[in-house]
Amino acid sequence: MGKAQAEGQGHAGNFVKPFTGIDPTPEAAIARAVAVMRSGRLHRYDLAPGDAGPVAELETAVARWLGVPYALAVTSGGQAMQIALRAAGVVTGDRVLTNAFTLAPVPGAIAAVGAVPVLVESDANLRPDLADMAAKAVASGAKVLLLSNMRGHLPDMAAVSDLCARAGLMLIEDCAHTMGAAWAGRSSGTWGLAGCFSTQGYKHLSSGEGGLLVTADAECAARATILSGSYMHYARHGAGPDETAFANAKYDMPNCSARMDALRACLLIDQLATLPDRVARWRALYRVAEAGLAHLPGLRLPVRPAQESFVGSSIQFLLPADWDGARAAAFVSACAARGVVLAWFGAAEPQGFTSRFDSWRYAPTTTLPRTRAVLARLCDMRLPLTFGTDDVATVTAIIGQEYRALGAHV
Ligand SMILES: *Cc1c(COP(=O)(O)O)cnc(C)c1O
Repeated sequence: MGKAQAEGQGHAGNFVKPFTGIDPTPEAAIARAVAVMRSGRLHRYDLAPGDAGPVAELETAVARWLGVPYALAVTSGGQAMQIALRAAGVVTGDRVLTNAFTLAPVPGAIAAVGAVPVLVESDANLRPDLADMAAKAVASGAKVLLLSNMRGHLPDMAAVSDLCARAGLMLIEDCAHTMGAAWAGRSSGTWGLAGCFSTQGYKHLSSGEGGLLVTADAECAARATILSGSYMHYARHGAGPDETAFANAKYDMPNCSARMDALRACLLIDQLATLPDRVARWRALYRVAEAGLAHLPGLRLPVRPAQESFVGSSIQFLLPADWDGARAAAFVSACAARGVVLAWFGAAEPQGFTSRFDSWRYAPTTTLPRTRAVLARLCDMRLPLTFGTDDVATVTAIIGQEYRALGAHV
């Protein structure tokens, strides 16, 4: 038993490290933030002469990292999505397609712009069902797909692009869980009109709250910049389009005041450089978790296609189809009693960070039998970078013990 495992395992064979652990903010970022506080220039447009300021610096770094011309920093991932939807021309009453399996900020962003979420079935690999998506695109008349790469699972992006082209859909990507991921070598967030990222405290980079929007479309970038609340200082952006792109946007788009501030940008600039290292560490944790769970009879892990380069910041598995809700709940409680925190999407009431499509009463009710059947069996576990691979091995051993104790059989 390794040292980390000995530490992670309590007296009664329980796991004692918190699942909510978070890396500390890098010292370089703290120093950057302190310097900004000393200057007093906390607002993105409050700049010393000749200084681009940290928000523009972050935007430039994000655009360079993804190889896209335009990036915009905003207050949250939800705001990035709302702004992208409005920039795409979504107005009150429009239908917007999105995955039924996603987090509440996604249908929330659609509702916030006055549009109506049209939920698409998710399959047992936690990806949207493209046949259902194509059918609902026609039936709803939606012009936009807000694709949520929930829990880091990317659908076949070439097939999604084809579908969007055929159905006349604009693609907006929710990359809250795919920051640093790619499909067939092309970065998540660069496949459609706009990519939206969250830098909320539990995401791949953290500024507590925050969001990023990227696009290769100058008009979209201009509209998004005005929507974010530029006070007509759009010329001061590091990765924005030039003046001509604003000709209509500056009159057409309302100011929705969702700018990122200088302090949060300071926290993110240095973290962005560490993302490849973080992705590699998550991958190592994921591989250990996968190996620890894959051999359990009757338990199913989502398939991870070879084209998918994913960030393993969490792992999901499906309990056997013949387990009822009471048995699933007993399993999750037994794991919790031993210090292993699993989110289960089959619970009656929305809890913690999870809520299910049937809790979004502002969205039109839809019967989603396949998604419902998947979510009834779905368990989700965070893999925080405060864990070592030995910790993950301990955790999966506990899951295996409790799973077998509940009488799993092939
Ligand atoms: C966190 C998250 C978002 C955005 O969340 P904010 O809290 O608004 O930054 C969007 N989609 C998914 C799937 C998320 O988990």
